[in-house]
Amino acid sequence: MGRRQTLQESLPSLWRILRHLRPYLRPQRWLLAGSLLALLAEVGLRALEPWPLKFVFDHLLRGPHSSSPLPLVGALEPLTLLTLAALAVVVFTSLRALAAYLNTIGFALLGSRVLAEVRNKLYHHLQCLSLSFHNQARSGDLLVRVTSDTAQLQEIAVTALLPLLGNIFILVGMLGLMFSLHWRLALLTLVVLPLFWVTTTRSSKRIHEAARRQRQREGALAATAAESIGAIKIVQALSLQGTFARTFSSHNSKSLKEGVKTRRLAANLERTTDVIIAIATALVLWYGTWLALREELTPGDLLVFLSYLKSAFKPMQDLAKYTGRLAKAAAAGERVMALLEREPEVRNWPGAISAYAFRGAVSFQDVSFAYEPGRWVLKEVSFEVHPGQYIALVGPSGHGKSTLASLILRLYDPTTGSVMIDGRDIRHYTLDCLRSQISVLLQDGLLFAASVRDNIAYGAPAASLEEIVAAARLANAHQFIAALPEGYDTVIGERGVTLSHGQRQRLAIARAAIRQAPILILDEPTTGLDGENERAVVEALDRLTQGRTTFLITHTLLHAAKADLILYLEDGRVRESGTHHELMRANGRYAALYRLQASACEYGRRAAASQGGGASCYYPPMPA
Ligand code: ATP
Repeated sequence: MGRRQTLQESLPSLWRILRHLRPYLRPQRWLLAGSLLALLAEVGLRALEPWPLKFVFDHLLRGPHSSSPLPLVGALEPLTLLTLAALAVVVFTSLRALAAYLNTIGFALLGSRVLAEVRNKLYHHLQCLSLSFHNQARSGDLLVRVTSDTAQLQEIAVTALLPLLGNIFILVGMLGLMFSLHWRLALLTLVVLPLFWVTTTRSSKRIHEAARRQRQREGALAATAAESIGAIKIVQALSLQGTFARTFSSHNSKSLKEGVKTRRLAANLERTTDVIIAIATALVLWYGTWLALREELTPGDLLVFLSYLKSAFKPMQDLAKYTGRLAKAAAAGERVMALLEREPEVRNWPGAISAYAFRGAVSFQDVSFAYEPGRWVLKEVSFEVHPGQYIALVGPSGHGKSTLASLILRLYDPTTGSVMIDGRDIRHYTLDCLRSQISVLLQDGLLFAASVRDNIAYGAPAASLEEIVAAARLANAHQFIAALPEGYDTVIGERGVTLSHGQRQRLAIARAAIRQAPILILDEPTTGLDGENERAVVEALDRLTQGRTTFLITHTLLHAAKADLILYLEDGRVRESGTHHELMRANGRYAALYRLQASACEYGRRAAASQGGGASCYYPPMPA
């Protein structure tokens, strides 16, 4: 994103924002038309406002000898004319006030409705953006964009942008009337325009830069807060409160400085504009009075002209007044639009199949993948899995197991090669069709701040309570849920913090079970569980995986041994593949690792037995 230099250069960014808003304006076209009509009425009534004064001046104060372009006015009794003029002042001003009220409310409603839609769209869009985007973005900064930046845009659109657009009508209307009254006098008022242009251009450059920096600081501020609060356990455990507080405070004071700078520059511009307007008024007053003395202009005309001059300069005053706010709107809007314009890398292909029940045959054909260009994480991976088979992905840490699983979910697309389900490249299915038929269970069963019942039902939003309970029973979770204070209606804390790791995991299994998906991905689901919990989870998983194509990522080869197919991944390649017995017979890396784990387990068993404890694991002996 390039840095805008001036207000003039930033106006395109405001147009760009308006262009984005156009589709949302369409449903509000009647409100828009009504508000514009009220605005036009306001401009028209504002133009009429000085005329009663003119008639009083020209026909009563100067005497009845003065000529009038309206013969009717000349024919009126002085007292009648005065009464009518006084009444007209009240009527015009009241009607203008009503029109102003209507267009203010109309534009405010319009701004709020449109920007509420933008915020909804932004949030939805954010959730659809690929993981490669989310991996790099800071969640706090994204939060600021969805909440504060859109609010900023909304507030400013209502209080500054829309009235400013309205003021353009006033400027054009008043200038037209001034030229029709006395073109030379009108031309004189334009003399100050270049001065105004130069001042605004110079100040707005600095105001915009300060506003943009301030928005960035706000993003960084929120990101720091979100990260430290999100990881509060580790922050407190490592006594990092001071470190985070210092980073936060540094962003905070920088943001404050930029905010003060924006306000100072904007106030400066406002005062300069006032002086420029005063110069223009003085010029018109001087030349206009001279014309009136030479009877080329009536005093009433001069009065009307000066009143129009004031109205015509109002948009300029407003532009100066709103520059600071517009700069903030442009900076906030740019951040919102930058997100909206970002295309999800993983998206539905044109003509993708939206409804198809998977049998569960999965194959990888020469799949290579790199998160960053040139840094291959998977290299020419090929394998084939039949429906209902159990596949274990094993191998050293950081060698591509989770990445392989995320390609099945289309969290990323392969750099080369294809992932197929039921003989078709998965890109030929819509994302909804694909992901609704895959259940995922991660190392730390992530839960949401909602009731237990809702957390399970996230797997299948239409599920009944009976189905939820059945899923919980399958996951060995029913017993502990029933013992919770409000059973299935107990609300659990954010990220499930009020439950133990094993309980969270069993709830996550229930969520996966209720989905009834033909394909299951289990990413180290038993890591970090103690013997009792592990047994309960393994038992639940055994039931869950029945008849489903299952991919199990595990470091515990004991769990891998029962798989129909074991893929040993190292350095992004499938180094060994086959059943447990085949791999043991091949006596390669898998066999070596299995032996290592088996002897570690045996050592632990003996140590536990010597202290009167029970066995915590059992590795079946190797085949002869
Ligand atoms: P583990 O057993 O520890 O979970 P793994 O075998 O599942 O590891 P992956 O998580 O697939 O390994 O990671 C493979 C490689 O890809 C690692 O070198 C890791 O640093 C890298 N990697 C993983 N996620 C990303 C990402 N989002 N962006 C860039 N690189 C990544």
